[in-house]
Amino acid sequence: MAPLIDTFGRIHDNLRVSVTDRCNIRCFYCMPETGVKFEAREKLLTFEEIERFVRVAVSLGVRKLRLTGGEPLLRRDLAKLIRKLVAIDGIEDLALTTNGVLMAQQAQELYDAGLRRINVHLDTLDRERFKQITRRDDLAKVLDGIDTCLRLGYGPIKINAVAVKNLVEPDIVPLALYGRERGIEIRYIEFMPLDSQGLWDKGKVLLADDMIAMLTREIGPLREVPDRDPRAPATDYEYLDGKGKVGFVASISRPFCLNCNRIRLTSDGKFRYCLFAIDETDMRQLLRGGASDQAIASAIRGSVHDKWLGHEINTQRFVPPPRPMYSIGG
Ligand code: SF4
Repeated sequence: MAPLIDTFGRIHDNLRVSVTDRCNIRCFYCMPETGVKFEAREKLLTFEEIERFVRVAVSLGVRKLRLTGGEPLLRRDLAKLIRKLVAIDGIEDLALTTNGVLMAQQAQELYDAGLRRINVHLDTLDRERFKQITRRDDLAKVLDGIDTCLRLGYGPIKINAVAVKNLVEPDIVPLALYGRERGIEIRYIEFMPLDSQGLWDKGKVLLADDMIAMLTREIGPLREVPDRDPRAPATDYEYLDGKGKVGFVASISRPFCLNCNRIRLTSDGKFRYCLFAIDETDMRQLLRGGASDQAIASAIRGSVHDKWLGHEINTQRFVPPPRPMYSIGG
């Protein structure tokens, strides 16, 4: 079967599946504090529909899978889905992105289901700033969740930290030290225009170069990890003293669309060839409308074929996607 290739020659083998748009925190750069309208439950894909879609995607060359949300641990019986997905021949890597608030309670069950790789979204180790960013007082639960995963043997564990300028500068170094002490890679993510309230502007983006300068000054010299997978969104750096790595997802200052291998399925069954895509393909209709696997496969292939070169955030042409982050998934 020919790989999933677009007109720019990029091969797509990395599928991100959002299992819910619901979340138990309210990060200000993602959603409003109140009045968020979530998808009706019957509109969310069932585990069987997700499994079927993933099987078709695997037949087209998908090898890496990431489960996202909203907050995926809010989806009941998530371990059941993970068991189904790890059993699919061809899946080489299954990871999950979580805000960690429910991780301490669910870590054992998800581990028993076969989950090993997690990214925890955490921007700060400061309780007050955590409350300011998320509008929830759950930092202790997140840290407990991480410790539980370390104890159980999850790995690699990474922390995704969204770097909003004039807010998280005091957190960059403490997070890095936290990661060095625990063998956890900290991924600093440049703030992207994916919020539902239009808060984003370039002036609020703490740039990768600024964070590298901070870490070098406060902790020590870093060097870019050689021979990294060019398709990986993060540029990885290692400390010259050998104590750990940090990564930078620099979508604004160093866009990486030219090597993009990622495609997405939203929790309500829309297929997106790009995080910032304006158009999407309705897979739920196909999955529930009696379509064959071949029809679903050609819908995926067609969408990928028509994929654009990349986001246009740094141009006048940029149009924010019609969906905010929590209803797309990381
Ligand atoms: S913005 Fe779109 S094309 Fe660019 S790396 Fe992200 S998903 Fe890929």
